[in-house]
Amino acid sequence: MIDDLYQETILDHSKRPRNHHTLAGANRKAEGYNPLCGDKLKLYLKMEGDIVSDAAFEGSGCAISTASASLMTESLKGKTREEAMKLVDKFHDLLTTDTPASRDLGKLVVFCGVRDYPARVKCATLAWHTLKSALHGSEETVTTE
Ligand code: ZN
Repeated sequence: MIDDLYQETILDHSKRPRNHHTLAGANRKAEGYNPLCGDKLKLYLKMEGDIVSDAAFEGSGCAISTASASLMTESLKGKTREEAMKLVDKFHDLLTTDTPASRDLGKLVVFCGVRDYPARVKCATLAWHTLKSALHGSEETVTTE
């Protein structure tokens, strides 16, 4: 069952989130909060010129929000700012429109099932809204001390 595979990926990333730490040398940072569920996260990006060279997050939230942030940070590395912004839009489409999952979303397609649970859509998109503000934000030096 493809649904079980999707479920498994989300569970795996929520239990063992990737890039779940502060990021030394981060120069973009944004915070997100989803009051409906209580999900909180801080996103760190390291931009080298126009390229996202590294991404990490900290925070606490439900399985969906954690897995989404984990898979998002994995998929961001090496993307240009513009590619990252496009990914935000595609992910949003995946969760809100009833069209076949975008082929180039890679592992992120596992979240298409969330579309059937409108209350959880905000959990899945929290990291992505935070990413948008980090990408729009002005350059700032983040200290992890
Ligand atoms: Zn949540």
